[in-house]
Order: sequence, then structure tokens, then C-alpha cells
Amino acid sequence: MHCPFCSFHDTKVIDSRLVTDGGQVRRRRECIECGERFTTFESAELAMPKVIKGDGSRQPFDDHKLKAGILRAVEKRPVSVEAVEESIISIQSQLRATGEREVAASVIGELVMDALRKLDLVAFVRFASFYRRFKDFSDFQKEIERLESTD
Ligand SMILES: [Zn+2]
Repeated sequence: MHCPFCSFHDTKVIDSRLVTDGGQVRRRRECIECGERFTTFESAELAMPKVIKGDGSRQPFDDHKLKAGILRAVEKRPVSVEAVEESIISIQSQLRATGEREVAASVIGELVMDALRKLDLVAFVRFASFYRRFKDFSDFQKEIERLESTD
């Protein structure tokens, strides 16, 4: 592929390894012309299902939106960007694995909650409190208790 720094037409692969349980290949490349190094990620291109919103409308799956939501939840928490990116890749592969052409937005919400629960409990509660819009504080407490009992 072309160098993103100088646009030279050839780069060489200097390292290649499988990431996210073999679902992706991470490659370090070096430009033959300017010597700059950069990373590429390669994964199989499979169509993402469309998202069915609460009002019944359909939207294309938006991984930027997903990432923004997760980053907001983990803000100022000890969670690395790499861990967030791996969660997003995992959510995407779970959605593809359903084989469905359309999935409810709530299915994605649940997958995000599962991912956040593994990353950071505070981030999970932040997201869950926003996402589920707990009716009252007792629901919120129940959720915390449920979490503590499953850990
Ligand atoms: Zn270059």
C-alpha cells in the first residue's frame, strides 16, 4: 500500500501478528522511500447488520458512534484505548456472527454493557444508568447488587 506520509507507492511489512482472537491481523509497515513506520489492521469484510431504532427506522451501523459512546463511559477511568478498540471489534464480530441483516439497537446496547462490565465497573454503571434510564434508585441498587453477586 502507499505510504501515508510521502505517498510512495511501496511499503514493506516489518511485523505481522494476529490480534483479537485471530479476527484481525495487525501489520507494522515501513516506507521504502522515507522510512516512516505505520500500522495497519486487516480483517475480513463482512456486511454489518442494519440497526433497527426504537421508532422502527433503520440506520447503517456506525462504529464511530459506538466508539464515542464507549469512550464517554470510560472517560477518566483506567481503560486503555486499545482495550476500547478491541471491545468494539468484539461487538462487531458478535453482531456479524448473528447472521442477521438487521438487529435491534437494544441488542447492541446489551453487547456494549457486556463489554463495559468486563472493562470497568464504573464505566459500566455510567453507561447502564444512561442506557436503561433506571426508573428509580432501587432499580439502580439492584443492578449494583446483581453485579457484585456475579463477580
Ligand atoms: Zn514514505
